[in-house]
This record gives sequence, C-alpha cells and structure tokens, in this order.
Amino acid sequence: MPQGAAYLLLKRVLRDNVPRGQGYPLRSLEEQNFKKMIWVIFIAVMLASYIVQAKLTKKFEEFSQVPLQGGLTGAEVARRMLRQNAVSDVTVESVGGTLTDHYNPLRKTVNLSEGVYGQANVAAAAVAAHECGHVLQHSQGYLPLTIRTALVPVVNFSNKIVQWVLLLGIILINITPALLWVGIALFAMSTLFSLVTLPVEINASRRAVQWLDGAGIVNYETKPMAEEALKWAAYTYVIAALGSLATLLYYIAAARSNSR
Ligand SMILES: [Zn+2]
Repeated sequence: MPQGAAYLLLKRVLRDNVPRGQGYPLRSLEEQNFKKMIWVIFIAVMLASYIVQAKLTKKFEEFSQVPLQGGLTGAEVARRMLRQNAVSDVTVESVGGTLTDHYNPLRKTVNLSEGVYGQANVAAAAVAAHECGHVLQHSQGYLPLTIRTALVPVVNFSNKIVQWVLLLGIILINITPALLWVGIALFAMSTLFSLVTLPVEINASRRAVQWLDGAGIVNYETKPMAEEALKWAAYTYVIAALGSLATLLYYIAAARSNSR
C-alpha cells in the first residue's frame, strides 16, 4: 500500500495533471481510466487483505484445537522432517511472539514461535513443516529462493531510501525528471521481491504437506486441514504482491502523466 509523504505529494501531482473538460486527446482519457482501474485494484486488495487475515486467524485457531494422532510437537515434527531429509546442520529453536516462525539460512536455525514449538496440533505441524520446506529449498539450491536471498540486501537498501528519492524526485521534477524514475526503480525492487516470494512460499507449503502425508504425521482427516491453513498463509503473500504491483503501476502512471 502506498504510504508516506511522497505518496501524498504524488497524489497532488496526479490531481494537477488530470485533464478536465472536453477536447483532450484520447490518450489522456485512456490514462484516466487506467488510474481509475488502479484505484479499484487498491480497494480490492485492501478488502481481500482484510478477509484473508481474518480467515487465516480463524483457520489457525480452529486447527490448533485439532490434536495430532502421534502427539508430536511442532519442534519434534521439524526435527524429524530434517532428519529424514538428511539435514544435520540445522537446529530447531523456539522464538517469542506469534507468527514469528521463520528459517534463518545464515545461522542455520529453524525458529518456531511458542505456539508452534511446544504444541502438538495440526496447525503447529503445518507451520513447522513449512519452515523445514525452506530448509530443503536452501540445501537443494531451489532457484527462486536463491534469487530471493540475493535480493534481500538490495531491498533492505532500497527500502531505506525509496520514500526520500520519490519525494525529492517530485520536488525536483522540473529540474531532474529522471530522479523520480530512479525512485520508481527502487520501489520496483520490493515489488520484484514480493513476486519472487510467491513461488518460494507455495513450494515450501507443497513440500510440507507432501512430507507430513508421507511420514504419516497427518491422515485423511487432518491432511486437508494442514493444506487449508497453509493455503490461507500463502494468500497473504499473494495479496502483498498484488498491492505492491498496483502501487508500482500507480507511481508509473503518475510519473508518465507528469512528463507530458
Ligand atoms: Zn515461508
């Protein structure tokens, strides 16, 4: 979602450049429609984001109440999945907070939140196996993960300065019009990152469910639950990517209308 002072200024630029009245070239009309369409996407993304978050929370609460037949905790599920996949240099640790579960490829640790680490239920097993899915991607050199990891320092850098470059780009639009495009290029890095994240997350979940099923951790009753919990988690990444893409298109439309 667009935010910050740069966004507000950009909105101003947009408004000043929207053609009014009759007799404007068709191209401007097309552009106006394009901007309207982006706003419709913004609103749809916002609504979808709200719905997906609510659904995700509800599903995780629901499946946290469903016990695992083997009685394994999230930590035990993770350790078994790593062992069975011949991964011996990654440790499973507990971290504070909720939804803080992640794999740290530098420290080689699978970090599971308290509600996952020590709990034996379908939701905990699904999350634990998903994080181990990332471990397997890492050890097997899964290409989208390699690209995503390479983008991390780039995105960290661009996130730090992007709002300032966009802001300066707008202020100095008549002196150095190229600066706004530099800002847009910086923003595009985070859009690219959110797009590359999609195959990484979906693939980790696919690996998770496959292993949980094959290892007999889930059965015909609990497998669809694990799948559903991970599906809603994946949707949050899809929404984030769409939001970022819409914002990028919005910036491009604004910069283009200003350059005429
Ligand atoms: Zn993940």
